[in-house]
Amino acid sequence: MRVYKVEVQGFEWNNILFGKVYTSGCSWRCGYCFVPEIVKSKTGMSGKDAISKIKMNRIVGGICVTGGEPTEQKDLPIFLKELKLLGLKVMIETNGDHPDMLEKLIKRKLVDFVRIDVKAPWEKYPEVTGHGPHNVKRSIELMKDWSGYWEIITVWHPMISKDDLIKMANQIDGRWVIIPFEPGNCLDSSLNKTWEWDEDFLAGLKKDVWVRTKGYERRLS
Ligand code: SF4
Repeated sequence: MRVYKVEVQGFEWNNILFGKVYTSGCSWRCGYCFVPEIVKSKTGMSGKDAISKIKMNRIVGGICVTGGEPTEQKDLPIFLKELKLLGLKVMIETNGDHPDMLEKLIKRKLVDFVRIDVKAPWEKYPEVTGHGPHNVKRSIELMKDWSGYWEIITVWHPMISKDDLIKMANQIDGRWVIIPFEPGNCLDSSLNKTWEWDEDFLAGLKKDVWVRTKGYERRLS
């Protein structure tokens, strides 16, 4: 397990204070990705050191494991088991590219909440991520048979047009949260530009949509 950094104070979800563990590395290279230093990192602290840090700062009731891409780490189940042994709720943020790992985590009851990042309409996945959407679709099907809490999250980034969002509204089946793009530190520097956040447009999508801005979540009607 390679951990880029641990944040012991993060955000609140369901009245639980969550810290964050960022795993090092991701094999994808989405141009809009705003954590290039984490994605390219091959080093970091061990899972054991990350657990020690969490233990020393026990004010959180849960940990969100994000990245990079946590499901690429072979010993993720061992790490999550350590978190569960501390009595913590566990959240995973993933690109959905490793449904087999996700299935393992679910079957072993190592995760309480899964957030799958859907990055574009299915037909545009190769252009945006360099990968096809097959595994992501499999991960979502897995979620539908799971009794735990899950959602789909989408960053509205410069590679997604309004037409793309309309297509996604037809393709996505599940609770859908849209968040604004953050320019400034993108993998593809040509995308580091201000991007229009049009909430009226999102509210007009024929879909139940939630938005998360400044850490606050709202449902658009
Ligand atoms: S956006 Fe997610 S999947 Fe894409 S490169 Fe960044 S961490 Fe990897």
